[in-house]
Amino acid sequence: MAETIFSKIIRHELPADIVYEDDDVIAFRDINPQAPVHVLVVPKEAIATVNDIQPGQAELIGKMVLTAQKIATEEGIAEDGYRLVINCNRHGCQEVFHLHLHLVGGRQLHGISAI
Ligand code: 5GP
Repeated sequence: MAETIFSKIIRHELPADIVYEDDDVIAFRDINPQAPVHVLVVPKEAIATVNDIQPGQAELIGKMVLTAQKIATEEGIAEDGYRLVINCNRHGCQEVFHLHLHLVGGRQLHGISAI
């Protein structure tokens, strides 16, 4: 997989507002937030898009969701609710080709296309 800006954040070579990190995933605030809470949950393993996820990585993908759930609780938005989004390729408006889950919340969200 090609090097991305997220590779540098994972290696701590670029600054980011990191809210969670362990051996498998890192989560940091989006540089251009679309809502009061906008955190990106990123696997440290190099996976470019949803299309590249292998069956053996199912546990890692589950861990991304559980990490988002934990952060949502810590950010105080779990009860009101939030949205988890993974963009894929051109039609999905993916800009950074290192898999990431957007956790978006902290305000009333609108239609699925509005975030
Ligand atoms: P995508 O469109 O690929 O699903 O989302 C990429 C996201 O990464 C965008 O929301 C964009 O604002 C965010 N982003 C791009 N570059 C950086 C960066 O250097 N730092 C942080 N924290 N977020 C970034």
